[in-house]
Amino acid sequence: MRALEGYHSPQVSVGVRLNTNESPFPPPAAWRDAYAAEVSRVEWQRYPDRMATRLRDGIAALHGVRREQVFAANGSNEVLQTLLLTFAGAGRTVATFEPSYQLHGQIARVTGATVVEGERAADFSLDLAEVSRVLSTAQPVVTFLCSPNNPTGLVEPEANVRRLLAEVPGLLVVDEAYGQFAPWSALGLVDDEVPLVVTRTFSKTWSLAAARLGYLVGPQWLVAELEKVVLPYHLDTAKQIAGRLALAHVDEMEARVRHIVSERERISTAMGRLAIDVFPSGANFVLFRPRSHGGSEVWKGLLARDVLVRDCSGWPRLADCLRVTVGTPAENDAFLGALEEVVS
Ligand SMILES: *Cc1c(COP(=O)(O)O)cnc(C)c1O
Repeated sequence: MRALEGYHSPQVSVGVRLNTNESPFPPPAAWRDAYAAEVSRVEWQRYPDRMATRLRDGIAALHGVRREQVFAANGSNEVLQTLLLTFAGAGRTVATFEPSYQLHGQIARVTGATVVEGERAADFSLDLAEVSRVLSTAQPVVTFLCSPNNPTGLVEPEANVRRLLAEVPGLLVVDEAYGQFAPWSALGLVDDEVPLVVTRTFSKTWSLAAARLGYLVGPQWLVAELEKVVLPYHLDTAKQIAGRLALAHVDEMEARVRHIVSERERISTAMGRLAIDVFPSGANFVLFRPRSHGGSEVWKGLLARDVLVRDCSGWPRLADCLRVTVGTPAENDAFLGALEEVVS
């Protein structure tokens, strides 16, 4: 416990909050009404459906897989935790390629596993020679990729995912928390005979961060193992309703995604005109590095102008980098205006 630092994402009260990659838009009004109506009919004296049958049927239909290939939990973080409780633990090794999502290593360490951090190239792409070195020397039971990668925004090319699938000695986990913003998904590679799981969340694209719901799609045998490890009745009835009803509004979700992608391109282009290095993103956020000022100085300058972004400038390998979540057009304008003042 002394060696662990915990996971921190400061919640500061500001006018323009662009630091945690949530959707800037609420779920559709029709979802809210349907949810309220169904929740009013819940038999609260009863335990929830332990297998979350209807929710998993909905997710399976969305992706063209079987219910038995879907495991749902309280946020994709609990999905990751259940995976690592099942397959990692003391005496076992988990591999990550940094920089990437901090919780992959963090949760693995909490289960007692040893985490081996491979290094990415300077442009944050995967270095395949480094991948081979890490996989052959560390023999990880679980290897993580994140695509699009948080916090860099980089989409992992399909060829890389296929290459890792051929090389991993254990399981390959592709975290697609931002998958809907990207041009391709590893979901199409999932098969009962392939050691691959793809994780997704309702927190970002589905505008349901408050609900805490995520899932994975993977081999049927693996889902059956996870069901043995996770706590019974871990998914409450209200959450199962929230997720199932969200799936009835795929068109609205996709419209929100298209809107955010166009805003992402707009702010990336606008930032590129300032003295700022902008990393190409396939997600709902953009990583950037000011050339004229220190990262934490720019972060403070933005905060003084009522705009909160994520300060990654003190994270390993991300010196002077900041990450901004794409917001509403008005929030993005406020961010761009403040940024221009700070760096000019
Ligand atoms: C936001 C995020 C998650 C989120 O998880 P939930 O627990 O579903 O809210 C998972 N992975 C990555 C890479 C993320 O950025």
